[in-house]
Amino acid sequence: MAEKNSNIKCSFCDRDKQDTNVLIAGRTGHICDKCIEQALIIVKEEMQSKSNHNLQHALTLLKPAEIKKHLDEYVIGQDDAKKVLSVAVYNHYKRLMQKSSKEDDVEIEKSNIVMVGETGTGKTLMARTIAKILNVPFCIADATVLTEAGYVGEDVESILSRLLQVADFDASAAERGIVFIDEIDKIARKSDNPSITRDVSGEGVQQGLLKLLEGSVVSVPPQGGRKHPEQKMVQINTKNILFICGGAFDGIDKKIGRRLQTQAIGYSAGKESDGIDKENILQYVSPQDLKSFGLIPELIGRLPVLTFLKPLDPTALRRILTEPKNSLVRQYVKLFQMDGVKLTFEKAVLDLIVEKATEFKLGARGLRSICEAIMLDVMYELPTEKKTKEVNITLGYAQEKLKKSAISKLKAA
Ligand code: ADP
Repeated sequence: MAEKNSNIKCSFCDRDKQDTNVLIAGRTGHICDKCIEQALIIVKEEMQSKSNHNLQHALTLLKPAEIKKHLDEYVIGQDDAKKVLSVAVYNHYKRLMQKSSKEDDVEIEKSNIVMVGETGTGKTLMARTIAKILNVPFCIADATVLTEAGYVGEDVESILSRLLQVADFDASAAERGIVFIDEIDKIARKSDNPSITRDVSGEGVQQGLLKLLEGSVVSVPPQGGRKHPEQKMVQINTKNILFICGGAFDGIDKKIGRRLQTQAIGYSAGKESDGIDKENILQYVSPQDLKSFGLIPELIGRLPVLTFLKPLDPTALRRILTEPKNSLVRQYVKLFQMDGVKLTFEKAVLDLIVEKATEFKLGARGLRSICEAIMLDVMYELPTEKKTKEVNITLGYAQEKLKKSAISKLKAA
């Protein structure tokens, strides 16, 4: 038996069994630990160049105008933000492609993005859609749960754990992903005076985010959290991760207004401060306003692309109900179709939904709750009632269901 073992060799490198640490047997041959390690390196390189190639391919097909066109299929309105985002994303991935040619002396800088706009205007939707178009890993992080390292709450590294999980623990895929950091406004500095107590959930987090946004190699616990101190850390280089931050920045309009006014007085005294669209003051947002809101200059500097989203008016809400590729109405129609039922809505019902969402100041997010209130009973009863093949939601029916639901208890804001 011993003699037989000594004849066993690695089928790849011909090493004898005694010269290897591990020799794994297959059906017709053997492979040693060294060859496995070699093979793993080759596989990783191949995968990397394949995903580089895929991205390159996507970029040759997707110019900024095409990216915007895709966005148009899912996001209603917000043309300014779409344009800014399409260009920033295009440049970001172009920069990523440039990395391979080292002799280039012009280094394109990272174009992380910050979006300012009321809640429910499509910030997350836009970031998510971009990631879908490019087919790169995407995750959402909530800035409000982050705290400075060592304090109760999540460390900023937890953001990367999530991205790694979405990327199926493939670090190189995660390294070209997109991270959406929501509620970035909530980590604004609490006051302009540096106080004696530490601001661990405000400025502390902003400081923590700096190295992530700029690009550095971070040790990430793959399962997240500090609960498994024994777990092996994964190194992630954030240099090519695109960070998109979003926030409502409540009250920033006043700061912008004040700035515009002083500018008007300073530069064009005597002239009317016309040209300023007071209805949509957010469009004039500048890095200076983010600073007076409480973001630290270093963080603002690492978010060089700044754009805004408009509040959604009833016309936009009405379009959101039916036009996007996965609009709410289409989703309900699909759900009913799966039960073999044809669902239709009276036009007046859609107007009612928009009217209620506007009345309660619920924005686009409210459309869903109002639809659910109207549709709950019919969605409950229909699957057991096999005879019905068509359902038309009438205005009378919708009004009655809304009256009964908890949503009608909301006071118009
Ligand atoms: P935000 O991140 O700005 O708070 P979201 O992107 O999460 O808002 O929007 C919430 C929901 O409202 C989305 O899932 C989407 O269904 C709808 N929505 C918001 N804005 C738009 C828009 N401009 N076009 C289409 N749907 C929208």
